[in-house]
This record gives sequence, C-alpha cells and structure tokens, in this order.
Amino acid sequence: MPRRLVILGSTGSIGTQALEVISASNGELVPVALSAASDWEGLIRQAIAYGVRRIALADADAAARASEAWTDGEVVSGPDWPIELIAGSDCEIVLNAIVGSAGLLATVATLGEGIHLALANKESLVVGGELVRQLAEATGATIIPVDSEHSALHQLLAAERPGSVEQLVLTASGGPFRGRRRAELVDVTVAQALAHPTWSMGGKITIDSATLMNKGLEVIEAHHLFGTAYDQIEVIVHPQSIVHALVRLCDGASLAHLGYPDMRVPISYALHHPDRVDVPVGALDLAALGALTFEPPDTDTFACLRLAREAGRTGGTAPCTLNAANEVAVHAFLQDRLGFLGIAAVIEETLDRLPAGDLHSFESLIEADAEARAVAAELVARRAAAA
Ligand code: NDP
Ligand code: MG
Repeated sequence: MPRRLVILGSTGSIGTQALEVISASNGELVPVALSAASDWEGLIRQAIAYGVRRIALADADAAARASEAWTDGEVVSGPDWPIELIAGSDCEIVLNAIVGSAGLLATVATLGEGIHLALANKESLVVGGELVRQLAEATGATIIPVDSEHSALHQLLAAERPGSVEQLVLTASGGPFRGRRRAELVDVTVAQALAHPTWSMGGKITIDSATLMNKGLEVIEAHHLFGTAYDQIEVIVHPQSIVHALVRLCDGASLAHLGYPDMRVPISYALHHPDRVDVPVGALDLAALGALTFEPPDTDTFACLRLAREAGRTGGTAPCTLNAANEVAVHAFLQDRLGFLGIAAVIEETLDRLPAGDLHSFESLIEADAEARAVAAELVARRAAAA
C-alpha cells in the first residue's frame, strides 16, 4: 500500500532531499500536500512535478500569488494553515522540515491528529519539550527523528533494553571554526560561517553548526526523544562526520552508527520506517578514510553549547527563550547586523533577563517565544548602535 505523506518545508534543504527519496521509492511514498514560507513559484513547480493538489504558504502575499497562478489545486494559508493542511490531507506521515520555532504548530497539529511525525524541525522539540512528548503519548503518534544523530540513536536503541543504556553520545563536526580561539572569531564573516566542512544544509542550521548551538539544540532534542537525563548525553567533536552517534551500554560495550554524511539516509529511514530501502550512497570505505578522529568540544569558545545545556537543565520556558534568542541573533548575523561572538552574547543576556517560567500550555510557549524575541532584538539593536 502506498504511504501518503505531507512534506512541510518542501522547498528547503531537507524538503528537496525528501522529494528525491520519494522519487526513488517507486510509488511506495506518495506526497499529498506540500508547504513553504514564501517561495510560491518553487512550491508550485514541485506540486506540478509530483502531482500534488494541496499546497500551503505561511506568507499571505505568497499564498495570494500562488492562488492566482495555480488553479489545479487548493492553496491553504492563514495562521492555522498547518492544522488545515494536515487534518484535511488524509495522510499517514507528516515530515516537518520547517526551520525554526515556526514549526511548533505543525508538530502539535500532526501529533494532535495522531499522525506519525518524521521530525527534522528539532526546534519544535526544543521549545515544546515535555508538552510535545505528552501529546504524542496521549494520541499514540510516534516521532521518528530525521536529524542524523538522533536517527542513528533511534536505530542503535531499538535493539537495547532501556536499563542497559548508560550514555548517549552525539558527534559534532565542529563546524568551520573548529580549533579557533575566541579572539580568532571576532571578525569572521557570514560567508566563512556558511562554509560547512562536511554537511550541505539550510542557512540557519549552518550557522548553528558554526556556533555549536546546533549540538546544544540536539542535546535537548535527545533528552526529549529518548527520555535521557542531561548528564547521560555527551557531545564529542568528530570532524569527519562519519560516526553519527554512539550508545554506551552497562557491560562496557559501545555501539556506533556510521555512514557518509548524506541526509537522504536518515530521511529515507524516517519515511520508510520500519522498512529499509536502497539509498544511492556509496558503501562505507574505512580504508579510504584512513583515520577517524575525536576531540572534546571547546565550550569556552563555543558558549552556545554550554548555554543550551544550562537551559535544558533549567527546563520550563528556558529552552524556548534560548531558541527564540538564537533565531533572532542568527538572523541578525546573516544580515551583518551582529558579529559572530554577538550571537552567544545576545542569547546569554536574553536568558539572564527572562527568568524561566513553568510550562503550562502551548500558549505559554508562544508568549515566552515572543517575549524573548523582543528582548533579543533590542539587544541586537543596542550592540549595533554601540559598534
Ligand atoms: P531551509 O532553510 O533549507 O528550509 C526551510 C523550509 O521551511 C523552506 O521550505 C521554507 O520555505 C520553510 N519555512 C521557513 N520559514 C517558515 C515559516 N515561518 N513557516 C513555514 N515554513 C517556513 O532549512 P533546512 O532544510 O536546512 O532545515 C529544516 C529543519 O531541519 C531545521 O529545523 C533544521 O534544524 C533541521 N535539520 C536540517 C538538516 C539539513 O541537513 N539541512 C539536518 C538536520 C536537521 P521557503 O523556501 O519559502 O523559505
Ligand atoms: Mg544533526
């Protein structure tokens, strides 16, 4: 039976690779709805190429243009577009490949409908944490991670009894600035930060990889996905990005997941789960690689990893505040309004200014997100004025 999929963020890096995985599935995976923020022309091209009749655009102007230009199907828009798109598409799986906390509503809409979620949008788990997990438990919907490290852990943990796992280890490439000290990061440019050594990804996550915030978000993501205490989640820098994650077991054995860095592998795993299908990646050639190296992360230089761990441990609205401040700061960095080291500084000050509150409801998250964005934007503006 073909599997009906909704692909959210289909015009992005993960979204387009997901469509490649779908093309290679010989009709086993069928996209029934697609979404983007504003790239309405790209979205319509995808809808035509894949025979999709429902699309959504988060941006109202883009949605209006799409409705004029495309009459072969329905264009969904408005603030509740994820609910309308997901609930009305009769699908088995939603791939959430939206970037940022804008993806939270889609995660909630999917799980609330009891639909399985292939989750690339780590921010929704970072921000929504316990609430997202409780919602999945209540409706019986499963979350299959797309993030490569968490996909690796999902596979490694499948064979283990919970009591036998002592530690999860996430690997980090270290990004383009691995090995540099703080003083060497003062003047780095956007182009340098976007030049990731091993992975080709969207702009926001590429900057998150350069600051190590990506790994910090992933520690929080792992905590919620696998119910693992923060003390039991370690990060190790591994520049070749071949080992994606490890689990340490109680009997002294450690299991690792290896493969070339290619997101089509975890995307395929999530969309076909529990089946595995062929993905056109080369067989791992360890002799050609020669050496795999590992080193501890430098959390003095890359403070974002430390800040994320602290926010995760604090819990409540702290991870939401951290994430919102990071989104504002990264956006400002990409627009040359904030220096590279300013990213961590803005996040830290935002967290200092906004003490963590309890997480009662998704509404409290939306408030915390807005409040943190306002504070972070003010801090960015102040630093720009002082520069
Ligand atoms: P991209 O920036 O390449 O794509 C983002 C997608 O989301 C686009 O389709 C974009 O539409 C859409 N979008 C952006 N903002 C909004 C919004 N406010 N509302 C609705 N849709 C929106 O991102 P990536 O594909 O790199 O990343 C997507 C997610 O996957 C992120 O959470 C990232 O952390 C995670 N991830 C990505 C990896 C990668 O290799 N890229 C690896 C692991 C995780 P438009 O084109 O119109 O702007
Ligand atoms: Mg990752």
